[in-house]
Amino acid sequence: MILASRLKWPSRSEFALPPRPVQRRGEPGVNRMYGTSWPVQPGAATPGGMRIAHLSVRYGARTVLDNLSLDIGAGEQLAVLGKSGCGKTTLLRFIAGFVKADGLAGTLTVSGRDLTHMPPHKRNMGLLFQSYALFPHLTVSENVAFGLRARRMSSGEITRRVTDALKLVQMGDSGGHLPAQLSGGMQQRVALARALVIEPDVLLLDEPLSALDANLRASVRSEFKALHERLPKLTVIYVTHDRDDALVLADRVLLMRDGRIAQLGTPQQLYDTPADGFVARYLGAANLLPPHVVFPSGDPRHGVCDKVACVRPERLTIRPHGRGRLHGTVTSVEWHGAALSLAVMLDAARGEPVLVTLQRGRDPAPDRGMRVSLDCEADDAVLVTP
Ligand code: ADP
Repeated sequence: MILASRLKWPSRSEFALPPRPVQRRGEPGVNRMYGTSWPVQPGAATPGGMRIAHLSVRYGARTVLDNLSLDIGAGEQLAVLGKSGCGKTTLLRFIAGFVKADGLAGTLTVSGRDLTHMPPHKRNMGLLFQSYALFPHLTVSENVAFGLRARRMSSGEITRRVTDALKLVQMGDSGGHLPAQLSGGMQQRVALARALVIEPDVLLLDEPLSALDANLRASVRSEFKALHERLPKLTVIYVTHDRDDALVLADRVLLMRDGRIAQLGTPQQLYDTPADGFVARYLGAANLLPPHVVFPSGDPRHGVCDKVACVRPERLTIRPHGRGRLHGTVTSVEWHGAALSLAVMLDAARGEPVLVTLQRGRDPAPDRGMRVSLDCEADDAVLVTP
């Protein structure tokens, strides 16, 4: 493999981003990429590409993963997203080789090799889990070198790899520090260097940002993104319950629900064409309305009964009363800095108010209690299963 070159400080040409999977709205597989169907990006045949087939994990009577199948492309960044308890970590642990359950079925293939029964230390995967505890009495360099010493590498090779790994995470000057002398974010980067120093084919990250406060989280997230731009051949699987992490970092998002795939696709696909109401809401604020309210009577979607129309708040345009198709009353106005969030109770759908996001402009925003009208283009609403 190209492992030795992988951690070298990248040349200019290596800064190029790997191509993102291209798929247009409405193409086969976009809305059907849930359940156990195969996603678009074939992964198993290429170096580092991975295929998980018919994976089920049961602990006693409890089914934690239920017949999951997916391909992960070489060099892809996949975010595994979902609520606590939906099986994300179990999926990651299966890939790493740590799941031991009587009710385990399914296979894992990487670069065409069946790794299903291979012990974890032979899989060449870097791991960074929630608790990234560093040895407090060892320096940064010694912490990073720890796994290499266990592998009985020569000291010259260890020095080279540790230097490269620390440079990669922008910690090249901190090798002699003790962990206690570093901030939380810096310790996190050292733990990342420790995962990268073995020059893995696949990097597995389990909620790596969850211990950081909001500001630090955003900056470490950006660093992760920059890191992958420097290591475009590294496949990264990133478990998180935070949709922003997933949207910012991932080429594709695997949204899980109760041990199954709710939807798999690019962040934009999940946001713009959610498979159902669960996906729509998980990815952000969503108005789910009866189709006859949203689509005009000439539209074939107008009379659909078994689905709802999903409209994102920023897709709705607010107009003076009488100048749009949907009429209602403003029930709240919230200011979020650059944007305003309005709730409007529609005359035609008096359940939940509809949310509308407005960028702040020069025109005065409507006040609470005002009568307004709303409009959206035909393309701005999609039909989804409730
Ligand atoms: P997530 O990472 O999405 O929060 P997990 O994969 O950690 O979820 O866990 C999914 C479910 O499987 C949880 O209900 C958890 O209690 C259960 N589970 C995980 N590991 C074991 C185990 N070794 N034995 C029994 N139940 C387990």
